Amino acid sequence: MSELGSSSRPLRVGVIGSGPAGFYAAEALFKSEISVQVDMFDRLAAPYGLVRAGVAPDHQKLKNVIKIYERIAASDGFGFLGNVTVGRDVSVEALKEYYDALIFSSGAETDRRLGIPGEDLQGSHTATEFVGWYNGHPDYQDREFDLSSRVAVVIGQGNVAMDVSRILAKTVDELKNSDIAERALEVLAQSKIKDIYVIGRRGPVQAKFTPPEIKEIGELSACDPVVSAEDLELGPACQAEHDEKRNTHTRKNLAILREFASRPAPAKERKYFLKFFQSPVELLGNDKMTRLVVEANSLSGEPFAQKARGTGETFEMDCGILFRSVGYRGVPISGLPFDDQTGKIPSQAGRILESDTPLPGPYVSGWIKRGPSGVIGTNKPDSHETVQSLLEDMPGLVPCGCPDSGAVAELLSKKSIRVVSFQDWQKIDAAEMRRGEAKGKPREKFVSLHEMLAVLD
Ligand code: NAP
Repeated sequence: MSELGSSSRPLRVGVIGSGPAGFYAAEALFKSEISVQVDMFDRLAAPYGLVRAGVAPDHQKLKNVIKIYERIAASDGFGFLGNVTVGRDVSVEALKEYYDALIFSSGAETDRRLGIPGEDLQGSHTATEFVGWYNGHPDYQDREFDLSSRVAVVIGQGNVAMDVSRILAKTVDELKNSDIAERALEVLAQSKIKDIYVIGRRGPVQAKFTPPEIKEIGELSACDPVVSAEDLELGPACQAEHDEKRNTHTRKNLAILREFASRPAPAKERKYFLKFFQSPVELLGNDKMTRLVVEANSLSGEPFAQKARGTGETFEMDCGILFRSVGYRGVPISGLPFDDQTGKIPSQAGRILESDTPLPGPYVSGWIKRGPSGVIGTNKPDSHETVQSLLEDMPGLVPCGCPDSGAVAELLSKKSIRVVSFQDWQKIDAAEMRRGEAKGKPREKFVSLHEMLAVLD
């Protein structure tokens, strides 16, 4: 039998998930010395994961990275199998028959919870739902967001909280030329929200948002930022964190927040309150939330390990709609180990571990490997590390029994699954762009599988 990775028997790798981590894994494989076939699976008909459905519509420049992914997809030996859910439409076990190795780059699809009373009242949403909804993700199009009250609260101070709160704070004019979903723009146009609170349990030094994102909040056409100068006074441990040489983003954040705090009284129609050292403790209301109970926190612990503790001092505030933006969590994949504590697939240098021992053949990259942190580019070294491990392991890999991508397509077709190929996706892509053109948008996304398949069939 010819050797795996030779031109007569390319290494066959199935990549599960077509977000940045999946594409960077494919890139590393194509850049290697070996001959390789990469088949990339996605449960959606559209590729690009969070670049399409997570990155905010008003941050189009970040989406330019798609051009790189398109080049990777144009490589010889690349296949896309969209609209295929691994673990449901085809099992991990079955895929092993067709691929010598599998790389799971499936991201972190669900949310961490706050674990407080009232969390599931109507009007309390995860950031994921809202982001998915305004970005046209098919899973979230049935969600209703009632923007008829004055106050919206976002819990958490990462960049997702920045995205969610900025979308609430922007006018329709600031959003209409983005690729925001049509229905979301209509609902946001009717928004009565005037006060947006973005609440962090720790202080400005620990805030996870990055300088460009917080700076933007001071540049909105109809919304003023409101920051209390008192919140920006640093105790010794916070000062030590702030002064740490590598911590440039914290220093930049602080400078921006200090500039906000020095501004004259807010005069614009909407106000954006950044609140530090506070935690939500209860959501109040009958079926629908109307008020929020918040507790003041103080920090304790060594620099870089400071934890927020409730002081016992609580207060209530009006709140018609709340978004929990406290981080994502991975979901288990049937047939693979999963660490419920961390929400990740246990791994070492990308090799999936079971009881601390590497399994032969399956690998991970991206958020399901390292947790939901970092920017798009962070996935490149992450996925390259995984591919490096795979290539080192190659001499010991057991060649799959059926090295044939056509056979995979046939298996799925027998199950009546309409696989969306990359050529199919390109037709959908072109149709979306045509729809957007008339409205001055980069694209008008199709928000259901049905609409996408209608372009093809
Ligand atoms: P994140 O950066 O980890 O932020 C999560 C926030 O939730 C933190 O402020 C955290 O506070 C807070 N939090 C966690 N548990 C909490 C609790 N029980 N009560 C109150 N607050 C709680 O996560 P993310 O915003 O979801 O973003 C995920 C990743 O995507 C990040 O790496 C982010 O930079 C990236 N991203 C980047 C962009 C961009 O580049 N423009 C846009 C969106 C997302 P503590 O610090 O106290 O834990």
